[in-house]
Amino acid sequence: MEEKRNLLEIKDLVVQYVTDEAVICAVNGLNLSLGHGETLGLVGETGAGKTTTAKSVLRILPDPPAKIQSGEILVDGTNLLALTEKEMRKIRGNKISMIFQDPMTSLNPVLTVGDQIAEVIMLHQAKSKKEAYRLAGDMLELVGIERSRSKDYPHQFSGGMKQRVVIAIALACNPEILIADEPTTALDVTIQAQVLALMKELQEKYRTSLLMITHDLGIVADICDYVAIIYAGTIVEYGTKEQIFLNRFHPYTKGLFNCIPDIMRDDNRLIPIDGLMPDPGNLPEGCAFCERCPEAMDCCKNGMPDQKEIEPGHFVRCFLPYKEG
Ligand code: SF4
Repeated sequence: MEEKRNLLEIKDLVVQYVTDEAVICAVNGLNLSLGHGETLGLVGETGAGKTTTAKSVLRILPDPPAKIQSGEILVDGTNLLALTEKEMRKIRGNKISMIFQDPMTSLNPVLTVGDQIAEVIMLHQAKSKKEAYRLAGDMLELVGIERSRSKDYPHQFSGGMKQRVVIAIALACNPEILIADEPTTALDVTIQAQVLALMKELQEKYRTSLLMITHDLGIVADICDYVAIIYAGTIVEYGTKEQIFLNRFHPYTKGLFNCIPDIMRDDNRLIPIDGLMPDPGNLPEGCAFCERCPEAMDCCKNGMPDQKEIEPGHFVRCFLPYKEG
């Protein structure tokens, strides 16, 4: 079998928010990989560490209070955490781009959308101003907006159109990795579907590797190849979309699926996961899901389970596979 080549690899990442009052353990030994042209869904509840992980990749966390305490973030074998700020500036927007949740706050209200796209092109590519503005028009057309609108300001666009502009900015330099942090959460349902279809089309066209951060399993089903389930700053289950949807194993993953409507299920009640995520300022010694887990055992309180491969390419961080042999 051909060995999978990873474009992005996150190894044992630990990120904390350190203040005089507390140490918040947001990301705790997280491992993740993303191959060329793949789409990976990073799925978890609010506060699970998804956005902190994404911002760590781009090194845009506010420091202080955020501190990347240990780990490696490798892109094509280069550890981003070892680069200088000047070197990182060449990576951001060029090799790696990010789409944020709220398009209203991603755009500069006093610059036209054409200015904002052209600015990114001129910053990263040796293009003249005229050529950058021509390319900005091309990018607008690519995302379904007439190039004549490049002279308009963000407030002249609807929410869905603004997110299209944000996508155009993110893709302007043809990045190898695109990180999308809940890109459709602020949009209404019909616009969500349009923006997702556009992202999928562009990702396939340019073979961009996409890290899709979401809590919406419908989005994962729609566009992802692989899925990583994150809980309390750690990946608890990872596999192909088929493995996670058809053969999920971790009790937390099962809980997430029980929270969504299923027309195949006889009873029409949703089963929420009881309790709350543990306080990241005071994580338990054992499995972080222990207090909420319907299958918890005595051993779960005493230590963190290692990650175990339960079928080829399907990994779970839980004591159950050890018990079941
Ligand atoms: Fe539940 Fe134990 Fe597995 Fe944690 S390790 S998810 S508590 S069974």
